[in-house]
Amino acid sequence: MTTTAPTPATTGFPLSFALTPSTDARATAEREAILADPGFGKHFTDHMVSIEWTLAGGWHEAQVLPYGPISLDPAASVFHYAQEIFEGLKAYRHADGAIYTFRPEANAARLQRSAARLALPPLSTEDFIESLKQLVAVDASWVPDAAETSLYLRPFMMATESFLGVRSAQKVGYYLIASPAGAYFTGGVTPVNIWLSTEFNRAGHGGMGAAKTGGNYASSLLPQELAYEKGCAQVLFLDSQEGKYLEELGGMNLFLVYKDGTLVTPESDSILAGITRDSIMQLARDRGHNVELRRVSIEEWKEGSASGDIVEVFACGTAAVITPVAQLLADDFALGTAGAPAGELTMSLRQELTDIQYGRVPDRHNWLTRLA
Ligand SMILES: *Cc1c(COP(=O)(O)O)cnc(C)c1O
Repeated sequence: MTTTAPTPATTGFPLSFALTPSTDARATAEREAILADPGFGKHFTDHMVSIEWTLAGGWHEAQVLPYGPISLDPAASVFHYAQEIFEGLKAYRHADGAIYTFRPEANAARLQRSAARLALPPLSTEDFIESLKQLVAVDASWVPDAAETSLYLRPFMMATESFLGVRSAQKVGYYLIASPAGAYFTGGVTPVNIWLSTEFNRAGHGGMGAAKTGGNYASSLLPQELAYEKGCAQVLFLDSQEGKYLEELGGMNLFLVYKDGTLVTPESDSILAGITRDSIMQLARDRGHNVELRRVSIEEWKEGSASGDIVEVFACGTAAVITPVAQLLADDFALGTAGAPAGELTMSLRQELTDIQYGRVPDRHNWLTRLA
């Protein structure tokens, strides 16, 4: 038996978006109070984007509309079979007031890869980037300007067809919402401890690990709770076949830094390839560091830690950019030093990446796209 994903009807030309302005947008004072202390993922802007897809009609009905609940039939297949994918990127306000985003074509390509794995229709890179521009154009006043703040953009796609049969949906929605985000680390970048999950895996060989889909997050929540119980901020997963090789955290990739300046990050077909990870690999190579994307065993970390060859460890992802790791805790061992300060290379890569994102240094790789 062969399985085929639905073939999208393509229009061959970019979508045009209809705007319905919100009639109850927050007043300036209320918005400014939120932007003064936005936290993360708690507040949302006044508008959102929705685009509908049907097997017969392809992508159509692109809209910017007031932010609000999505009404779905209880039989919508996303509720039952979790046919859902998402993305995460940020809009940054530069000193001149202009608003940029970082490598959106990479998020568009990843959304297309995730869509392929979950038998959802691909949204073109052009329509994806246009959806960001459309939303940020109407909600530009929601992009904060304090240090390390941003507007977090959350595109997502899900099966909206009312049908309990098990097959890929013939009706799908793409949505984009936006949420102002405060500085991830208030009061300085602080190293975290992470917990090694040996009982649970996040994803397996041939599974959905390389797709950005809610199912992988659902599977990480229980181990994440166990990590919290051990006083750790995040959980680290190993490969599901041998339980020997490092994969990633629940929502962040991992780097080990060697004494000779080599950076190593795990390679696996069940890891989500982070755009932050890719950007860090590029910046480190630009500086002349040796960068290795390869399998890394937990044994290697143990040995490198004992010999002093591994000198820094950090996690990375769009939300926190780079998070230094002080210690890895496991049932029967601990690596690293409790309360260790953030590594020097860790912090300088973090500085360089955020300098590019906020327009404080030249964008030599053409990573920025102006949104408004
Ligand atoms: C989104 C995500 C990352 C980080 O990706 P970025 O593109 O750097 O934000 C890492 N791991 C998982 C599981 C993710 O979902």
